[in-house]
Amino acid sequence: MINSGKMEKIDLKGMDRAEMQEYAQSLGLQSFRGRQIFRWIYQEGVLDFSGMSDIGKPIREKLSEAAYISELACDKKLVSSDGSTKFLFRLSDGNHIESVLIPEAQRVTLCVSCQVGCPAGCLFCATGRMGFKRNLKAGEIVDQFLRVQRESKRRISNIVFMGMGEPMLNLDNVLKACRILNDDYGPSLSQKKITISTVGILKGLKRFVSNPGKLGLAISLHAADDELRQRLIPPAKSTSLVDIMDEAKRYTKKAGRRASFEYLLLGGVNDSIADAKKLVKLIEGIPCKINLIRYNPVEGLPFKKPDEEKVIKFRDYLYPRVYAAMIRESRGIDIQGACGQLAGQQKD
Ligand code: SF4
Repeated sequence: MINSGKMEKIDLKGMDRAEMQEYAQSLGLQSFRGRQIFRWIYQEGVLDFSGMSDIGKPIREKLSEAAYISELACDKKLVSSDGSTKFLFRLSDGNHIESVLIPEAQRVTLCVSCQVGCPAGCLFCATGRMGFKRNLKAGEIVDQFLRVQRESKRRISNIVFMGMGEPMLNLDNVLKACRILNDDYGPSLSQKKITISTVGILKGLKRFVSNPGKLGLAISLHAADDELRQRLIPPAKSTSLVDIMDEAKRYTKKAGRRASFEYLLLGGVNDSIADAKKLVKLIEGIPCKINLIRYNPVEGLPFKKPDEEKVIKFRDYLYPRVYAAMIRESRGIDIQGACGQLAGQQKD
């Protein structure tokens, strides 16, 4: 909300279609006006009511007296030598978040943030080191898509919640953002093209798995035994791998899709064949794919990149013992835009 002098103006960015229709009615308009406004904001990226050409002038004037459409400010844009781009966005309260656009031959993926900082505090992650400031609102999540789409020559085809923050700790806003992104009157992105990534916060995970629709689920394992996992991921102390695997199984049945497991290979920590054996045993019987990610060094953190030979051996042990295992090439390392490197800091 902002104060226009006479009255508090309401921010429409972040309302889903049902809320927008209700809001239109609250102004004495017909509910379809809400749908029109929804389409202008989320499909056309319009920020000014005067640009909504199928809405009459008196209604547009009424809207601009009562409401506004917020937008993230882009403070910095860094382009990697591999073509990915990291955006540093400033929120209305001055906090910063980061999003990374990753163009590939077959698709264009946007990695979005869902929190300012992150309370999970994973030992290998730059975001975890900056602490937690606040949850993002649904509008601030969707706006990362709208802002980046405006600058991207190609259409964004996939969204992954793998930026700053833990989605299961801000689930209401994450799901609302997904609903808006998926809406036919909005960006109309298929649920299958949106992936929620989590370290496995059980309460949120259970809730998500109860009704996942067709949204993708990626669970960050990073270790196949509870003891090591609890050392790397502090919230894992209250969640056992057995419970997480139960939810992964339930997800595959409910969503009718494979689960993804992310495994960050930390040199000398979790990259041995003994670790690979434990991993195969852990995921036995779960239709899934495993994404292996080489650790990207972060200044000040006590981990190193795994040896290339060990990475290949790890993958070769997994496959064909598991349904699918691939080494995911990290993108944007030179701009600190790869997994675990986002810190939302504005450095001169
Ligand atoms: S890895 Fe994910 S959950 Fe862990 S601290 Fe980083 S952003 Fe948070």
